[in-house]
Amino acid sequence: MVGQSKLLDKLKDLARNLWWCWQGNVIDLFRELDPQLWHDVDHNPVDFLKRIPIEQLERRAAEMALDSRIDYAFRRLSEYLKDTDSWGAINATILRARPVAYFSAEFGLHESLPIYSGGLGVLAGDHLKSASDLGIPLIGVGLLYNQGYFRQSLDGNGWQQENYLNTDTDLLPIEQVNGLDGKPLMVAIETATGFLRARVWQAAVGRTRLFLLDSNVPENSEEDRGLTARLYGGDARVRIRQELLLGVGGLRTLHALKINPSVLHLNEGHSAFATLEMIRKLMEETGQPFGEVFREVAQMTVFTTHTPVAAGHDRFPAQLVEEHLGKIREKLNLSYDDFMGLGRVYATDPNELFCMTVLALKLSRYANGVSSLHGVVSRRMWHPLYPNVTEEQVPIGHITNGVHVKTWVAPQMALLFIKHLGIDWPKRQRHAETWDGIDTIDDAELWETQQVLKARLINFVRSRMLTQAKRRNEPDATPERFADVLDPNALTIGFARRFATYKRAGLVLQDVDRMVDIIRSADRPVQFVFAGKAHPEDRMGKELIQGIVKITRDERFSRNIVFVEDYDMNVARHLVQGVDVWLNNPRRPQEASGTSGEKAVLNGTLNFSVLDGWWAEAYDGVNGFAIGIGRTHAVPSTQDERDHASLIETLTGQVVPCYYERDAAGLPRQWILRQKDAFRTLAWKFNADRMVMDYVRRSYLPAAGGLPCQ
Ligand SMILES: *Cc1c(COP(=O)(O)O)cnc(C)c1O
Repeated sequence: MVGQSKLLDKLKDLARNLWWCWQGNVIDLFRELDPQLWHDVDHNPVDFLKRIPIEQLERRAAEMALDSRIDYAFRRLSEYLKDTDSWGAINATILRARPVAYFSAEFGLHESLPIYSGGLGVLAGDHLKSASDLGIPLIGVGLLYNQGYFRQSLDGNGWQQENYLNTDTDLLPIEQVNGLDGKPLMVAIETATGFLRARVWQAAVGRTRLFLLDSNVPENSEEDRGLTARLYGGDARVRIRQELLLGVGGLRTLHALKINPSVLHLNEGHSAFATLEMIRKLMEETGQPFGEVFREVAQMTVFTTHTPVAAGHDRFPAQLVEEHLGKIREKLNLSYDDFMGLGRVYATDPNELFCMTVLALKLSRYANGVSSLHGVVSRRMWHPLYPNVTEEQVPIGHITNGVHVKTWVAPQMALLFIKHLGIDWPKRQRHAETWDGIDTIDDAELWETQQVLKARLINFVRSRMLTQAKRRNEPDATPERFADVLDPNALTIGFARRFATYKRAGLVLQDVDRMVDIIRSADRPVQFVFAGKAHPEDRMGKELIQGIVKITRDERFSRNIVFVEDYDMNVARHLVQGVDVWLNNPRRPQEASGTSGEKAVLNGTLNFSVLDGWWAEAYDGVNGFAIGIGRTHAVPSTQDERDHASLIETLTGQVVPCYYERDAAGLPRQWILRQKDAFRTLAWKFNADRMVMDYVRRSYLPAAGGLPCQ
């Protein structure tokens, strides 16, 4: 008996560190214990272990000889946590005494911790994971949304429904943080209308810790208790209060625990108030004047901007800022006007709103966009802030986003990499030479692997279609009805992302009559999988979804165009791993980076994209397909027409022929050539290890050591 409960204890320890979610064999362990339950709990191991009866656990473990595998996984976790042989141990030693504090309004680590909405959050999650793998001393700071972002379903008219579910904190891999006095830590921020309080939770992401603030405490007013309920859910007042908690409350959390970060990394402007709290604290401690401390804090602050659209930046009316930051403003010895000037491009213009990006730019010495093109766009957008320099000299650089490889690569593909790149390939992922081994993969083997992944996707889609139909109480919601949805032999194109208007989700289907011939071609059929959520307030986004869903319900398309509801990291994983082509057609240059296409690369899925964001610096003519020629037309409708024409022309002229041209062995050699080229030219570069190392070398070390920006 003792031995068995030890087994459960080990599984619980594994479940309590999110490290498991990038370990294929630990995921397999949970699944094999009870595949149905694993599915039913949305891959949440904490929930899973609470529900699985102990007798069943023991029986299954014995039957499947899982004991030794659980032991092994547990040992690997312990070794991982202790490992001192990391890149960071050698290259980031000065961060050991005083770590980086990484602030983000959302973190996408796994679908079972629903505190993210999209790309920004997934990027932050990937950043924490790579920081852990590389041994970079870094601590994440965010908010715990107990309803998360919404869960999406569609009604009979294809109209998006938003469902908010309360998450039970007992079922999340988090624990409440105690202060140094051993009592539950509570942070408090004084505003003009009273105190705003939050308790703090902690999640373990490998070696990285993530603190999450939660306003749902009895000491708060009823309204404030719900403040952190939803991500991006409220009006300006809710937003500023959330951002106050994130920035000021987040930094106070660290200071209360005697953690003195040497670098503040603001992932997007939401957390920029952290800089003001840092100034307040240093002024209090050192007695130095504002001007002096301002420079010191800017020197330690790294800011990453993600928004290439002017309207997308958070802006608040001055009264709202004064109500919430007035107490801090007084401590900074700043007049109302001087303080508001910190958030304005033209500091003395009383009509300008207080912009979080402007605050972040003024208070950081290391600012960057998230792709080369986005760097250019950001320098142009913020040039007015730097009137004494040319546009090229605006101090905003770029560090292109990357994805956490072990999170996004399919296990079957990872096996191929082990075989051909060497067992330690993940540690060497950032070196171009590592990927030379791709050429030793047999074409047939690569092709087979992709067919397996596609079959998995198709099963997933069919089962989702059935669930969706059942939810709508459709009379013929039977497995038979969906048994022939998607053809494993047809060219399969995936499109999934937020349904923001600039991403132009409907572009490819714009001319339905033209698409009929392409999709229903007898010998060269094409099929589509769509997914994505529109922001609850975004009517146009919802109309885009409805437009696509209407087409999927057209008898001519119902087996070859599908919409998978409730896009999340789970759906994203199935899609990027299982489709042949990843389509992305934003209106250039509005995609700051895009990362889903980088996930596709790792799985042999070819990108077919507008030359925007990361793809503008990645495409080389062979490693995927381009839409347009990287130009922007001043009139959006003209741009849309041109891009649509280019999309259809490239699809019919290049993508389809390349995919269907087979040799005697039935293999599309040219296609496989492109897949291999994509692995070789892209995988080493567009991964989160490379990204985090760039941050360390170009921003963190100089910021921590007081060195000039490189
Ligand atoms: C990766 C990811 C995104 C970001 O994709 P983009 O290409 O940047 O739009 C959004 N949502 C989810 C669930 C993801 O996994």
